[in-house]
Amino acid sequence: MAPANPPVRVGQGWDTHRLIPGRPLILGGIQIPSEMGLSGHSDADVLFHAVTDAVLGALALGDIGMHFPDTAPEWKDAGSIQFLQHALELAASRGYSVANIDSTILIERPKLKEFRTAIRESLARAASLPLDCVSVKFKTGEKVGPVGEGLSCEAQAAVLLTAGLR
Ligand code: MG
Repeated sequence: MAPANPPVRVGQGWDTHRLIPGRPLILGGIQIPSEMGLSGHSDADVLFHAVTDAVLGALALGDIGMHFPDTAPEWKDAGSIQFLQHALELAASRGYSVANIDSTILIERPKLKEFRTAIRESLARAASLPLDCVSVKFKTGEKVGPVGEGLSCEAQAAVLLTAGLR
């Protein structure tokens, strides 16, 4: 039998939101200038949602929808940093801290490379991690599929938790 509290736990997360006019485009807590933004009950920050799901997944504590139902009025237009911080508190309460985060944002446009540092710094701050433990990568959809056709934005995340609080 594996130990009940393994020394490391890995988690992965994925999220998608529709791109629509008249909404802000917020990625990792950073508002990106864009004619299109992400539709959703909260601020629809697809990167924070994917990272939150990765943390919950590493803890085997279900998914973001179980913890923050999109029917709950208290989460309407909520800043998604709250979701991530709640997941990190659950990790800390079980004796785990995040070792590193790797993530990918998939969006056709706008181009995000000039915002990479701001998004990384924001995610690192939200997770209380040094910058060199936080990776944010960008991909387009190569003009195919919902991302490539500019209909949606997706994010993927992998998180490693280690036993012991920093
Ligand atoms: Mg979401």
